[in-house]
Amino acid sequence: MRVAIQGSHGSFSEAAARRRWPDLQVHPCREVKDVVAAVREGQADAGCLPIENSLIGSVTTTYDLLQEAFGDGALRLTHEILHPVHHTIMALPGAPLSGIRRVLSHPVALGQCRLWLSQHLPGAELVSAWDTAGSAEIVAREKNPALAAIAARPAADAHGLVSLADRIEDDPTNQTRFLTFTQAQSVPQLSSAEGGRYKTSLIVLVDHKPGMLALTLQAFGVRGVNLMALQSRPERSAPWTYRFYVDVEGAATDPRVAEALEEIEALAVKLIVLGSYEAWTEGSRPSLPVPPPAHRVEKPAIPLVDRRRHPEGTVVRVRHLSFGGESPVLIAGPCSVESEAMILETAAAVAQAGGDMLRGGAYKPRTSPYDFQGLGVKGLRYLADARERTGLPVVTEVLSWEEVPVVAHFADMLQIGARNMQNFSLLRAASRSGKPILLKRGAGATIEEWLMAAEYVLAEGNPSVVLCERGIRTFERATRHTLDLNAVALVRERTHLPVIVDPSHAAGISSLVTPLSLGALAAGACGLIIEVHPDPPRAMSDGAQSLDFAGFEDLARQVHPGALAGPVQMA
Ligand code: PEP
Ligand code: MN
Repeated sequence: MRVAIQGSHGSFSEAAARRRWPDLQVHPCREVKDVVAAVREGQADAGCLPIENSLIGSVTTTYDLLQEAFGDGALRLTHEILHPVHHTIMALPGAPLSGIRRVLSHPVALGQCRLWLSQHLPGAELVSAWDTAGSAEIVAREKNPALAAIAARPAADAHGLVSLADRIEDDPTNQTRFLTFTQAQSVPQLSSAEGGRYKTSLIVLVDHKPGMLALTLQAFGVRGVNLMALQSRPERSAPWTYRFYVDVEGAATDPRVAEALEEIEALAVKLIVLGSYEAWTEGSRPSLPVPPPAHRVEKPAIPLVDRRRHPEGTVVRVRHLSFGGESPVLIAGPCSVESEAMILETAAAVAQAGGDMLRGGAYKPRTSPYDFQGLGVKGLRYLADARERTGLPVVTEVLSWEEVPVVAHFADMLQIGARNMQNFSLLRAASRSGKPILLKRGAGATIEEWLMAAEYVLAEGNPSVVLCERGIRTFERATRHTLDLNAVALVRERTHLPVIVDPSHAAGISSLVTPLSLGALAAGACGLIIEVHPDPPRAMSDGAQSLDFAGFEDLARQVHPGALAGPVQMA
């Protein structure tokens, strides 16, 4: 294996490359661009360049080279190497430290030893050389006792110099990240499915318009792809414009990364994928591919929610609560969070009556755009505050995928509302938040469509879904919707997911809420979600179906007999 490096024998680049290929044959180059040329022209099988140092940050010469070197797709990154960097200051035998007037080294190495140099050689001239090991060679050649070089310890022995001080870097954790690359046609396709942790590096040029960089990064974020590094470098031919270097977790062949790259390619002025490579983990070697299963199992139509998968039933935990556990979970609160005082007052009443969890909409799906739309982030803060004071976990609705991160930040459980049950990008984004999901049935959705929506969440990797029957639209106009208890009994039979009932939205009439609640529990629901308001006639939304505190206390007594919690002390 011939590996091209910038620098000479004994350089840190060589030592780093040897961590990956112990028997390599080194091909020294003067400049980073010569390393690229050596690989392109076949004089070396691979190149190894420093990209980032833990003390001084990015190696900008390497970054600046990447676009021109990789722009035509002829080269590909293949590995990442982390290498600890310890510096020695060296001089001719017998030369005292006090006599040193000039210190030579690579500018990156000089930058890593600033503290030691200013303390021990404050008057010395610092001279940039092309290479650390090369500067040791110069000191040996010049035979001048006033010269010193900073390089790795072995360079002193190699050039007949002696150490004046070892480990002079500003911090003992000092390390440099190197990237190796080779000709693209010799790189096998990677897939994270093969095990191992991969990274993908890219360069993106975006239009100078609001939101373009955010769109690029969002393409990864909404797909749950982790961003590892972001670096901007100036576009030399267009002052004050920039190109962005992005590292993400995962191989470019991973479906989520591939999807994001496709989207970015469509949106950006230019996308250059530098390559996917195994992230460096100390002592790691590529792991073996996972063999496919030996025999095929016939798949049910909606496989992940199918009861046969977990005949014992799934228990979904939200903080200390269990949906599908021993006792029903009683969720209650207002339709909308209307003010701080109102949600605190309601939360206290819910806790005092024996409710288990607090609901309240901060983002409201309203039929009319002129109706109250919710307090947004303020409402989320008030809910979190109410949780702090009462200990009640919080569930609240998330209306669109863009709001998933902020809602997930405050809430314990994300509610997907009836109107959004088939909003598949929202389902995916909510799933990726990792928070338990309360999935309401759409008013016009069949049971199969509802379960397919749950399947979306499970398929995206989140197993914690609680189904919620909240009434469907039928020919009947006497009530707001028709509570479908068939569905409750049926999904319990067909799926392993816990199911709860929302009698408030189903009936639209507060006097029906308690009888429907009891019917729902009898049909197998493992919880209820109830709208409660301090003053229902004055509610900003859904007052007609909201219980007042006394009504809720009465319902709670019947759901959790003997569980009246007693006065709640507000913190
Ligand atoms: C709600 O819970 O306030 C709500 C809007 O519910 P749904 O999505 O069931 O109409
Ligand atoms: Mn409501």
